[in-house]
Amino acid sequence: MNTYEHSVLLSVDKCIGCTTCVRHCPTEAIRIRDGRAVINEGRCIDCGECIRTCPQKAKKAVCNKLSDMDGFRGKIALPAPSLYGQFENLDDVDYVLTGLKQIGFDDVYEVSQAAEMVSAYTRAYLSTDGVKKPVISTACPAVARLIALRFPSLEDHVLRLLPPMEVAAQLARQRAMEAHPELQPEEIGVCFISPCPAKASYVKNGFGDYKSQVDVVVPMTDVYFQLINVMSAETQPEDLSSSGMIGVSWASSGGEASSLFNDSYLAADGIENVIRVLDQIESGNIAQLEFVELNACPGGCVGGVLTVQNPFIARAKLRKLRRFLPVSRNFLSQEDPYIPARYFFDTLPEYQPISRLSDSIAQSMRMMADIQALRGKLPGLDCGACGAPSCRAFAEDVVRGTAVMDDCLVSRVLPKEES
Ligand code: SF4
Ligand code: SF4
Repeated sequence: MNTYEHSVLLSVDKCIGCTTCVRHCPTEAIRIRDGRAVINEGRCIDCGECIRTCPQKAKKAVCNKLSDMDGFRGKIALPAPSLYGQFENLDDVDYVLTGLKQIGFDDVYEVSQAAEMVSAYTRAYLSTDGVKKPVISTACPAVARLIALRFPSLEDHVLRLLPPMEVAAQLARQRAMEAHPELQPEEIGVCFISPCPAKASYVKNGFGDYKSQVDVVVPMTDVYFQLINVMSAETQPEDLSSSGMIGVSWASSGGEASSLFNDSYLAADGIENVIRVLDQIESGNIAQLEFVELNACPGGCVGGVLTVQNPFIARAKLRKLRRFLPVSRNFLSQEDPYIPARYFFDTLPEYQPISRLSDSIAQSMRMMADIQALRGKLPGLDCGACGAPSCRAFAEDVVRGTAVMDDCLVSRVLPKEES
């Protein structure tokens, strides 16, 4: 039974069954049934690709609302670094951070600050004996889930460090507890301002055996419109920022990898490119590398479906902003190879390979043979009229018992001896 709580949902009434999302879903999680899209929850990685591509806006991200923070006495904002790329002519991050306090947060902890720590820890991790190379980043939760579902043989390559959002949540809580001993832990609320639904799913489900320290995830779009109402160039902002170029660079593809000061890396973005790279690592068909950074969204987190700006524009804005920042404010000159135990996780979120046809090897082999035989009888047009993304996927559906041969309209009209 699938127990994963998702953050990408379908508004059935808006769906016209056009198959666009079926063809773009990277895990073949969507089928058309009775003229409407249906998501197989066991396969969905919450990448948001169907939200991005649906012409009817029938797919939506399910996150929290800012008002969900109302019940907490201590309210902490964790802005993702991509938030800084959303504003025109921003030359000082403190305008954004002060704006967050103006809209009701008591404290702000930059995820870019934690990112600089994770960069330093990753440098130490890479130099540890026995680590399987290339190490693959897990900062993008959609990629982490994709590896668990579709590339389980790469599990040993996965970086076992918590992502910056989670490190920031732990440190923000600790700071709040020290500053406000009168508050109980459950009275402190930590709110992540997210560029994508995958982060919301990560918070709902935890990371394997690790439970997230974030309480609420709100879309960046919601917070952006509140912020532009209160941010003003005339008001002197508070001195709040604690990160530099390295942390802010995590917002776009290549930022995490370049912070490792190691040329032996690869950074890929966009879910199709991510799958190509993972395929190549799995087949051993890739040059010797130390580190692989993968982001499901085009351009990295700036390309998330919950952002406001076009990712290329956001990236250009961040490049300009970086000119006003120090290289780093965390752990740059004073490397500390010791990684606190609380920043590790043990198991990937839900190890459940989707390519497995049956728990019995013999039965899997029989089903594979049936799929092959059935593919030979199908027209091979990949037209999508059956509701599956390809004839191969349709053959698998028939063998698994979730579709019937008559769903293939082309086979129905072909003379029997040709079908
Ligand atoms: S893209 Fe998918 S969800 Fe959107 S209308 Fe087409 S079939 Fe429905
Ligand atoms: S969120 Fe991604 S994996 Fe899930 S159904 Fe949409 S496209 Fe497929």
